[in-house]
Formats: sequence, structure tokens, C-alpha cells
Amino acid sequence: MSNEKYILKGTIIHTPTPSAFEIIEDGYLVCSNQTVEYLGESLPEKYQGERLIDYTGKLIIPGMADIHIHAPQYGFRGLGMELDPDSTWTTWFETYSLPEERRYADLEYADKAYDKLISDLLKTSTTRLCLFGTIHREATELLMKKLDAAGFAAFVGKLNMDRNSVEGLEETTEESLEETRQWLEETATLYDHVKPMITPRYIPSCTDACMEGLERLIREFRVPVQSHLSEALDEIEWVKSLKPEIDFYAQGYDMYHMLGDEVPSVMAHCVYPTDEEFALMTQRKNLWVAHCPQSNLHSTGFAAPIRRYLQAGVHVGLGSDMAGSNVLNMFRIIADTMLAGKVYWACKERGDDPYAKKTYITISEAFYLATKGGGSLWGNAGSFEEGFAFDAVVIDDTSLADFNKRTARQRIERVIQLADDRNIVAKYIGGKQVL
Ligand code: FE
Repeated sequence: MSNEKYILKGTIIHTPTPSAFEIIEDGYLVCSNQTVEYLGESLPEKYQGERLIDYTGKLIIPGMADIHIHAPQYGFRGLGMELDPDSTWTTWFETYSLPEERRYADLEYADKAYDKLISDLLKTSTTRLCLFGTIHREATELLMKKLDAAGFAAFVGKLNMDRNSVEGLEETTEESLEETRQWLEETATLYDHVKPMITPRYIPSCTDACMEGLERLIREFRVPVQSHLSEALDEIEWVKSLKPEIDFYAQGYDMYHMLGDEVPSVMAHCVYPTDEEFALMTQRKNLWVAHCPQSNLHSTGFAAPIRRYLQAGVHVGLGSDMAGSNVLNMFRIIADTMLAGKVYWACKERGDDPYAKKTYITISEAFYLATKGGGSLWGNAGSFEEGFAFDAVVIDDTSLADFNKRTARQRIERVIQLADDRNIVAKYIGGKQVL
């Protein structure tokens, strides 16, 4: 990453808090030593003479964090959104996900597939990611190498799956733990901004012995953890049958210190928390919920109680959950967050009252989740406050314009609903221009 000092000029929009956009028309954003040094309407005298990149007329927003994405599933995106009505929780995995992941034993295949994913990710508004790889150490190391070369900041997981997999995608408990140890030794300090993250796929994929071994590795290497939690009702039933000693799903991680007490933890979905589960989640200050709105609606037919988590002080970010959803485009995921919020309100909070108060998530809240909400996993990222990582995305929204003069607030609304890669003209991660 670059230590150069420079200035971006344009219409700057961010959400230091979820409640509203902060908008600075024709403002200045100064990058120094990879972080934001100044944001304001005019350029102070001391910056006169520094390199200025003029994006007048364009929008400048913080880079976005996709905190739940399955890198090897990009190849079959768009498939499997309609399955047999008699299908169960495991049908989609067995039909699409696991057979595709099996192919990453072949490094040539992994090389091609990960190149495609990363070149497509570069064009998006995403600057930071939490990725699931596969069980394969070499392919996961290749993914990390490619992410680093492209300039991303990322946590990457070699998966652990020592039960309930398919032929050709199996590892014994010993193999799983030994490969994880070797991978941690090789990558824990290899890159500045791409780091390993312990990744038990979910409780049904990992035996108790595997989870105990992973807990020891987490303590030894002090690395964060990611997994899936309470995504679907039949999944939750399955977890209960596999671990009858726990009262609710989250306990299955908490008993191994994987729910955000000792190290940061990202749990994807969290659609169906029981009251006890919700209460425990609010106590775990190092826990991030990865909200995956499109995937939740596809896989479970329902929406997560995201505003409840936010109001209870739980960290929340957004995830594409590729290929449970079909897009890398975080603008679409913000728009889906708004839609899923309305579904949640209509099904759970409105009751029978057509005039009930509308309590669903707002556009600034959804934008906050995609930027500062997920970015907070890296400390200060996802906002243009002083000292935050200099992650910025420059948007040319000319193609979205109509024949009326629109405010900057209207322009960002429209970007969220309509923009894609074609509107992104530049991207900076940790001060370095990557696009
Ligand atoms: Fe997932």
C-alpha cells in the first residue's frame, strides 16, 4: 500500500452513523499514510501544492466490505435458485456447492477460477472481504496470494469439514487440523492485508474433536473465526440432533470460544435466533453478523432481524454469500437489505394492522452496514472520518441521470438502487489506487 499524500476532489458521501448520510458537495478528501487525514468543503492552505485528483461531478463513497462470500462458488452463480419443492437443507449443497468445491483440489482449475473472481471483484465497490475458500490448503493459499496481488484487504478461510461432506471432498479430523496448522504457519504473517481466518464450515461439517482442535489453533495463532449460524429451520433442527447437549445453535460455537469473546467472529445469516441465542449474541462484543439478504430469501424464504441486532449493539455487516445469492455488486446487496427489511416488517412486525408504524431499515442504515458496519471488523474502515483506512470508490452516475436536477442525496439513492460496475471509475484500498 502507498504512503503517498494526495487529494481527491468530488461530491463526498459517507455514513459516520447509521442515521443519516453526510454529504459534502465539491469537497476535498486527503489521503496521507494510507489513511484519511482530512475531509472538508475547502482545502486548507497546508495542502496547496499536493497532488490533486479532480473528480468534480462524480460521487466519492467509502469502499465496501463483503464479509461473507464463498470464493469457489462464483463459477455456478445464478444456478440452483429453484430446486425441487421436496428438497431439503442439503440438496443445494450436494447438487451445486460441494461438487464445485471438489474441483479446487486441482490447482490449475483454482488458478483460472480465482483469477476470474478477483478480476470481477476489482471492478466492484468492494475493498475488503471475508472469504470462505475450500478444504484445500494450496488452493486457499493461491486465493490469498491473488487477493494480495490485486490490493484487497481480506480475511480468508481454509475450510474445515471432517464430516457430512461428499466423496472427493473429505478430510479426516487429523488431516483437517494438520493442514490448518500448516496453512496458519505459512500465511499468518505472510501478507500485510490478507490474513487467515479459522473457518469451520458450520456445526454439521465439524466433529467435536475438530472444533476442539480449531479452538487450540485460534488461541495459539490469535486469528479470527467465521462460520454460519441459524440460517434455516431444518439446518437448526439438524444441529440440535448432532449436538443434543446445547440449548441453541450459537452455543455450539460459544463453547469453543468462537462466538466473538476471545477473537473476532463473523457469523453469517443469523436469521432465526431464539430469545436465548439473541441475548447471548448481544453479550459477545467481538461478534459480527454477516447479513446476506438475497441469500436468506432464496435459501430460507425469510429475512433476518437486522434492525433488532443493530439496536441491541451487535455489529452487522453485509455479505453477498456468493453463490447463495448471485451478485458481487454491493449496491444490489444494499438494495436487497432494504427489501428484506420490508419483508421482515411485513411478516413479523406489522401484525394485522395495515397502518402499523413502518420500522424497517432505512437507506442510510443499509449503506452504513455495507461500509462502516462491515468495515469495523478491520478497526477503522468504511468511513471518511480522520484516521480511517483510505478506501474510496469513485462513481460516475451520468448514465443514471434523468432530465431533472437531482440532489446528491437523490443521486446516492439512485446509485444504490441502479448502479453496477459500469458506474465505477476508480477505487482506492488503503491509499493505493487499484482501479
Ligand atoms: Fe455461506
